[in-house]
Amino acid sequence: TNNRRPIVAGNWKMNGNLALIKQVEELFSDADISHVDVVVCPPFPYLGGFNDSNFALGGQNISHYESGAHTGETAVSMLKEMNCQYVILGHSERRADNNESNELVADKVELALAHKLIPLFCIGEPEDIRESGQLFDFIAAQIDAVINKVGIAAFNDIVIAYEPIWAIGTGKTASPEQAQEVHAFIRQHLAKQDSNIANQCVILYGGSVKGSNAVELFSQPDVDGGLIGGASLNPEDFLSICLAA
Ligand code: PEP
Repeated sequence: TNNRRPIVAGNWKMNGNLALIKQVEELFSDADISHVDVVVCPPFPYLGGFNDSNFALGGQNISHYESGAHTGETAVSMLKEMNCQYVILGHSERRADNNESNELVADKVELALAHKLIPLFCIGEPEDIRESGQLFDFIAAQIDAVINKVGIAAFNDIVIAYEPIWAIGTGKTASPEQAQEVHAFIRQHLAKQDSNIANQCVILYGGSVKGSNAVELFSQPDVDGGLIGGASLNPEDFLSICLAA
C-alpha cells in the first residue's frame, strides 16, 4: 500500500477544438472525480477556453528560454498565467520531431520547477531498444539526465510518465506486467538515491490506454495513473479512464 494520489492526464496533442472543451467540461461537471487528479493538456490556443472545469490544466511543452525573441515558442510564465498547474515535458513526439535531447528536457524540467509547474516528465523506449535488451539502461539514462540537473529531491514535485514508444498511438498497449516491470525499475532506480522520494513519486503509464484496459493497468502496484493520448479526445472514454484510477 502507498499514499500516492492517482493522476490521469489527457494529452490532446494537436487535436481538439472549442466544441470538445465544452463537451469535456459538461460531462465532467457531473462526475465524481474526487479520488483522482485529472489534468487536460490541450494545444496552447485553447488553454484560455476552459473556464468551468473541475479538473486541472497543463501545457504540452515550454520553451527552454524564459522570454524574448523566440518566434513560435511559449514561455513557462505564460502557462502559469493561463492557470496551468502541469506541463508535459520530454514527450516522445517532441524528442523525435524537435530533436529534444535528454539534456534539453532536463533544462525544461528545471525551468518548470522554478515556476512551480509540475512536470509530467515523459520517458520510454523505442521497440528496437527493448528488443536488444537495453531497456533499463535507456530508461535510466533518461532519468539520470534530470537527476543530474535538478537533484533527486526535486522528484518530490515531478510526475514521471512511462510511455513505451511502440505503444503510443498504436493500439498496442503494454501488458500490465510489462508496465509494472518498468515502473518497478524506475522506482528502484530513484530509491538508489532516496527511498522516500522513490516511494512517493507518482509514476503514470502511457501508451494506448483506453476505458477497457485502464482498470487492469492501474491495478498494478507501481502504476499510479495514466497519460492518455487518443482516448482523451473521447470525453466518455476519458472519464471512464479517470474513474478507473
Ligand atoms: C501519449 O501521447 O502520451 C499517449 C499515451 O498516446 P496514446 O494514448 O494515443 O497512445
